[in-house]
Amino acid sequence: MVRVGLQISATLENVDKLETCHPDYSFFLKLKCSNCGEQSEKWHDITESERVQQDSRNAAGFNFFMKCKMCSRENSIDIVDRSNAPYTADDSGGFKTIVVFECRGAEPVEFSPRVGWRVSSAENGQQFEEVDLSEDDWVEYDQKNNNSVGIYEFASKFIKLKK
Ligand code: ZN
Repeated sequence: MVRVGLQISATLENVDKLETCHPDYSFFLKLKCSNCGEQSEKWHDITESERVQQDSRNAAGFNFFMKCKMCSRENSIDIVDRSNAPYTADDSGGFKTIVVFECRGAEPVEFSPRVGWRVSSAENGQQFEEVDLSEDDWVEYDQKNNNSVGIYEFASKFIKLKK
């Protein structure tokens, strides 16, 4: 078992806080099997509020479960409880861990931000829901503060964490 942190980086303009609408946000990930090295081109979605593979042996189930197509090993991933963290104005321009995955047999190698982000403007401005970061850039107009707000140069990476 290994813990992997998802780190994001972005340049924030008049934005106080960028966060996922967890626990209902779906993290779209490309995964690699740690046993045989198989890396599928398919995007998998992992959502903290959803559980699969619940049975008598494992009543809680997992946030994600997959049998590797190549080596048939059963791999699972859970989102670590309370590991979600917002990306704030103070973090702007640098990388910060926003969620931690507990990985058993499969590890994330690529992240697609897509839709489901919440953006809070600076100076108690407007809050935007269901923000779409598919284009890696996002611009809106804050009508409360009469200025533009934006997220630019979105980037992400994974880091392995020590237990
Ligand atoms: Zn495999």
